[in-house]
Amino acid sequence: MYHLGVTLPKVEPHYIEFKDWDLKAGVVYGPFRTRRHGNSLGINLLPSMRKHCTFNCVYCQCGWTREAVPWRPEDFVDYPSPARVRDEIECRFGELLVEGNVPDAIIVSGNGEPTLYPRLEKAIDVILEVRDRFFPNARTGVLTAGTQLGRQEVRCAVDRLDERMVKIDAGSDKLRKKVNLPLIDFDLDQLERWVKLLRDCIVQSCFVRGRIDNTAEKDVGDWVACVARIRPKCVHVYSLDRTPPAQELLKVDRVSLERIASRLHAETGIEAKVY
Ligand code: SF4
Repeated sequence: MYHLGVTLPKVEPHYIEFKDWDLKAGVVYGPFRTRRHGNSLGINLLPSMRKHCTFNCVYCQCGWTREAVPWRPEDFVDYPSPARVRDEIECRFGELLVEGNVPDAIIVSGNGEPTLYPRLEKAIDVILEVRDRFFPNARTGVLTAGTQLGRQEVRCAVDRLDERMVKIDAGSDKLRKKVNLPLIDFDLDQLERWVKLLRDCIVQSCFVRGRIDNTAEKDVGDWVACVARIRPKCVHVYSLDRTPPAQELLKVDRVSLERIASRLHAETGIEAKVY
């Protein structure tokens, strides 16, 4: 495990309030109808109603990351055990089966960075085994910032899922630091090397305007070059859905997102879908 002890960044005064209304209380949440995954069921391996992440993205719907990145054994005491993960998943999957509410996708995400879960391989074993019993046609995936992909056990675990969705919002470290406010030492060169060790991946990229803007021509050019080096099987391009924690942040209109997606495709041949 990397040394993850950090000093939390100061939240600038104009970024005032964070929203905790979207934090999850348990291991399973949803399903929700989503544009990307259809009827999507979420799995939260992180503590209940608290956010743990290696990033502090300006648009994060979990609100600001208020706690240091966990790294000492005592930081993980309130993570759900694999036994509890199994119990909660079996119980909720059973209810959904009875209701006839069949998920199209089961996505490991939740209250922050799911790959921080200390027994990720075990948890993914459980998720796959229960998925096979209850909803064998549901696709499985994980949303990650990629900061833990330098660890072989994390790559092995996420490679067992159907999809690995890795966040890349900027193609330069300077801009990435502004958009994602990383809480650990981590650069794009590392991410590119680690992602190439995965079976495959989907890149997810959120574009914003306003006080932080990653849509300028040069910035999109850097992003295109970064995505081209990674060669994901496709890219999901999107903007804000709801009010972000950073005030003065604006949604990017669909036409601009389509232009970014088209530029990626024209310059690299990589398929990008706008959501
Ligand atoms: S990586 Fe995801 S959970 Fe973490 S701060 Fe960014 S958007 Fe939020």
